[in-house]
Amino acid sequence: MSKLFKRTKILATIGPSVFGPEKIEEIIMAGVNGCRLNCSHGTNEERAEQIKQIRAAAEKKGRSVAILQDLQGPKIRLGELVDNHLDLSSGDEVILEAEEGFEHDGGLTLPVQYNLVEKVKIGEPLFMFDGKIKTEITEIVSSTAIKVKVLNDGFVMSRKGLNLPETDFGGDIITSKDMADLEYGAGQDYDFVALSFVQSASDIEKLKQILLSLGSTAKVIAKIETKKAISSDENLEEIVKAADGIMVARGDMAVEAGAEVVPIVQRKLIALCRAHAKLCIVATQMMGSMVENPEPTRAEVSDVATAVVQGADAVMLSDETANGEYPVEAVKEMKKVILYTQNHSRVAPMKRQPEGEKAIYDAISSTVARLAEKIEADVIVCQTASGATAATMAAQRPNVPIISVTPDARVANQLALTYANSAFVRKYDENFGRELALELKESEYLQTREGKKDLLAVIVSGDKNKYGTDTIKIRHV
Ligand code: PGA
Ligand code: MN
Repeated sequence: MSKLFKRTKILATIGPSVFGPEKIEEIIMAGVNGCRLNCSHGTNEERAEQIKQIRAAAEKKGRSVAILQDLQGPKIRLGELVDNHLDLSSGDEVILEAEEGFEHDGGLTLPVQYNLVEKVKIGEPLFMFDGKIKTEITEIVSSTAIKVKVLNDGFVMSRKGLNLPETDFGGDIITSKDMADLEYGAGQDYDFVALSFVQSASDIEKLKQILLSLGSTAKVIAKIETKKAISSDENLEEIVKAADGIMVARGDMAVEAGAEVVPIVQRKLIALCRAHAKLCIVATQMMGSMVENPEPTRAEVSDVATAVVQGADAVMLSDETANGEYPVEAVKEMKKVILYTQNHSRVAPMKRQPEGEKAIYDAISSTVARLAEKIEADVIVCQTASGATAATMAAQRPNVPIISVTPDARVANQLALTYANSAFVRKYDENFGRELALELKESEYLQTREGKKDLLAVIVSGDKNKYGTDTIKIRHV
């Protein structure tokens, strides 16, 4: 049983390498549990089409798949450059011009998508092209342009991103493009909305307000990638508490704070998410060399295994699936590493100390997890309305798969990224027990182990309108 389910999930970024219903179906069959649609590229119409394809493929596989809308946030990009390329040398003075309609003429004045004049201070660092070009801001040139001094030799290309690790965006990180994407997205079938370049918990609270006002039921993921976000453990924890989940966005984090900082932040964030029963996604360059090669490096295999051992809910593929030559292979390799690692090393249990009501649910879920492991149960079946009970159960990181049963298809999709969870949509009734387990067995969600006639299930349930989660049953099916 435990060999069938991977407890750590795979989130794949959609891009040209997997465009079209066949490719989408192929990666989902290969083990993808969630798809990230990146608003930094492509159009809303394309994404609407992809959502349909993902839902169709998920239905065919008979499994829920999560769809995540990734908002660009204040990711400032260069505009189009002549010949798509510009060499820069140390000492060059470059002007970044945000005026609408400005076009590059091959010189050192470059179009930029965002007016930085109001935000930046002289002397602050500004990096281009994933940190490959380092500069310092030297002058405010006009109401739409700033001047920077280049500090090393290299080159930039059209639409490459800028990073401003010291710049305070003053709580103003949801751009007009993000607003437009949110408005369009609210009418689409998104399960999650991720916000890039979050600096503090208030950014997340703002986004939640906007989603509420738009009638969206999507959960919110905070992408942790700014120097500000990781500036203190308290700030990190505030963000974790405000969001429904986080992404360890290692790509931009390395540019903003230094690559050596990333592994420690990753470990802290996974622990915080487990403590608060929030979703934790580890992202970027996990199988990076597979953009060009059919096999991962030893270091990449080790990186994925580390995330699994630490207890991440999900690991993400970016360019590997979006633009790579081996998208399906990348998913398969990742799945292989996850399965082997989970079957040979369990996630160390963690002491959680939730307060109030939550302490009761934590006590129930830790009891269920230990019970299931002690009696070598095949599965934990968990009744959940909002997904909160399932998240608390998953926070225990049991080495037994969890089947969550919910009446809400949105919740089922969201649980597709949650540790060890498979979600099953079913109306609530009083017979939450043997009858349900039989149904699950018939639906091929559950298969008996070799040499065994029946399945052993621990079932945790309760009526949320009465006492909440209050019943634990053990059933042979
Ligand atoms: P991105 O976010 O791929 O949208 O930039 C992830 C990261 O920065 O690691
Ligand atoms: Mn990023």
